[in-house]
Amino acid sequence: MKEHVQDAIAEVQGIAENWSAEEVLRWAFDRFGNNVAISSAFGVEGMAVIDIASRVNPGFRLFSIDTDFLFPETYNLIDEIEARYQVKIEKVYSLLSPEEQEQQYGSALWARNPDMCCNLRKVEPLRRKLGELQAWISGIRRDQTLNRASAHKIEWDSKFGLVKINPIVDWDSKKVWRYIHKHNVPYNPLHDQGYPSIGCTHCTRAIGPGEDPRAGRWSGFSKTECGLHLIEPAPPVPDPKTSASGACD
Ligand code: SF4
Repeated sequence: MKEHVQDAIAEVQGIAENWSAEEVLRWAFDRFGNNVAISSAFGVEGMAVIDIASRVNPGFRLFSIDTDFLFPETYNLIDEIEARYQVKIEKVYSLLSPEEQEQQYGSALWARNPDMCCNLRKVEPLRRKLGELQAWISGIRRDQTLNRASAHKIEWDSKFGLVKINPIVDWDSKKVWRYIHKHNVPYNPLHDQGYPSIGCTHCTRAIGPGEDPRAGRWSGFSKTECGLHLIEPAPPVPDPKTSASGACD
């Protein structure tokens, strides 16, 4: 089955690079039906993908990793999305509540070892959710990080073992914003307050003039990705009894 799907991906991958976001999404919904879902943290790129998907396939599936540490503005946006697109967002949580995480790993793990915190609250929940699916859809763009520069519109995700669809991977930030304004798509108001990239409250700050758009994520660490879109395997979740605090990727 896996080899069969990988062969099918190889056949379509080159052609798909010339497809529009709508065409990529139509192919994904036709090919995978109810076994494909959009994954979003509701950044502006994700909002563009959600809006396009709503016109291609109004019954699209949408899931989100809720770390329990999102901004109130993000939770408000989630409510707005459900009302506007008539979709029930499938929320996925860490196996540990924030309190249980603190008991097992100590307070403010994100400030000492954000890799471990992201593994517990984002990567493991994502892996669990993707186990239900044959394909997932993301809103990543090639120009966001070095790691994303080689992403294709349709590709085999060897890290999680399913197909990954990146319909707007060739868009730039200006094109995303043009789309948002043209179609009156709702977006997180924090974007207008200096937050180009929005994650958890503990690890996101507004950026200043001239700063890299992702400089407000994990500020003070070299980490630029939470691990959801990294190509290499995520590090295993360490044993809390033996692990010490450390740096992130
Ligand atoms: S972004 Fe920060 S708080 Fe959120 S899961 Fe990662 S390290 Fe933890």
